[in-house]
Amino acid sequence: MRILVLFTRDLRVHDHAALDEACRTASEVVPLFVLDPALLGASANRDRFLLESLVDLDRSLERLGGRLFVRRGAVVDEVMEVAVQAGCSRIFVTGDASAYARRRERLLAAACARARLELRVFPENAVVEPGGLPRATAYRVFTPYLRAWGDRPPRGLVPAPRRVSVPGDLEPGRRPDPSTVAPHAVDVPRGGERVGRRRLHAFLGRELQGYAEGRDDLAVEATSRLSPYLRFGCVSANEVAMRANGAAVAEPFVRQLAWRDFFLQLLAEDPALAWRSLRDPVGIAEAGVPAERALAAWRDGRTGLPLVDAGMRQLLREGWMHNRARLVVASFLTRRLGVPWQRGERHFSRLLIDADPANNAGNWQWAAGTGTDPRRTRTLNPVRQARRYDPSGAYVRRYVQELRDVQAPLIFTPWTDPSLMRRSGYPEPIVPVAT
Ligand code: FAD
Repeated sequence: MRILVLFTRDLRVHDHAALDEACRTASEVVPLFVLDPALLGASANRDRFLLESLVDLDRSLERLGGRLFVRRGAVVDEVMEVAVQAGCSRIFVTGDASAYARRRERLLAAACARARLELRVFPENAVVEPGGLPRATAYRVFTPYLRAWGDRPPRGLVPAPRRVSVPGDLEPGRRPDPSTVAPHAVDVPRGGERVGRRRLHAFLGRELQGYAEGRDDLAVEATSRLSPYLRFGCVSANEVAMRANGAAVAEPFVRQLAWRDFFLQLLAEDPALAWRSLRDPVGIAEAGVPAERALAAWRDGRTGLPLVDAGMRQLLREGWMHNRARLVVASFLTRRLGVPWQRGERHFSRLLIDADPANNAGNWQWAAGTGTDPRRTRTLNPVRQARRYDPSGAYVRRYVQELRDVQAPLIFTPWTDPSLMRRSGYPEPIVPVAT
């Protein structure tokens, strides 16, 4: 018997339930990835990471005696063609919550029913998959969800298959070539399970110890930087939680994985969360600046607010941004400049390697006050946030070249020194901000 395993956002061989089950029950497995033009091109940063992850997956499968089969085109058509060519009787796929993924699953289910093939959908890449708990919207706020989430017994880890046997008579398809995509950002991480696992091990052995104190310190590398690897399923969220849970200091870190599951479950319940506000916004200020001008200054990192600009320039340079900076720039755009969160979310989505509809929209809505846990008072003042979370100004100096020689406290309010403003060419604040 042959089983086709369709890879999507689960580009790994460890803790991969569908691959494991296929290898244990079928004589031969067809690991397949379809490069869908409908998805490619939305973000060069993400495309590059994806192609690197596919090359890495192919190598891992090769080491296990198999390989990755690759096709280009509409996913469902390609899957059905390969399944028929290879004589597969079953198709395995990992579930996903986005509107795109659910449509793919519906079309695949219909095509499988017509062709009399069995389709099996395995749980998402989550610690507690959507559906594993009562509806997230029933909780309204995160804390009760977290309590229920923490009460769930841990799921065991599935080891990488010992051997992946693939058909010798099936055309493998052209290998993806990451060098065909030039990322927007210059300083991007390399994609793939092997790099992701190295990052995980390094984090658990080093930064996790100081995570609770350091995670909001903008200038320090105290967080895991695992988000792109979780986004593409190069590492399993379940494995990250299991391995971290061994450490006494792990709770604040593991809580972030619960946030990830919370947003995933909300999206699974309502895919429109990715573009429609859950509720009317609260606490939005009148900006007095035309939205397009505000948006352009924000995108380019030229708002004149050093912390906002540092965050936006980190995004441009690395395709990633520190969580504290994401909170500050999102709050500033939506609550101070009065720009709808969807405009900011779209920009993030183009540049962030870790962008996915659940986390990106979920967090934007949280920051804008249209989503979960809404609070009128959550507007973050970028000057006060800089004093608190970048007290030496090192984060701003790293990303805002015009201010690279400026020290704290002047770096928090450079506009108060007219000669510095003339010398540096740094812009005046786009709106007045209380200091
Ligand atoms: P760590 O602090 O090491 O956390 C470990 C993992 O937990 C992360 O890799 C991530 O998967 C998860 N996590 C951490 N914080 C959050 C959170 N607030 N919500 C959900 N999951 C979280 N994260 C994304 O993965 N994709 C996005 O598109 C995304 N967009 C965001 C947009 C805004 C406006 C904001 C405020 C936050 C956004 N986040 C997003 C959440 C968070 O900023 C990143 O997950 C985090 O900065 C990634 O860095 P890290 O891997 O070092 O995180």
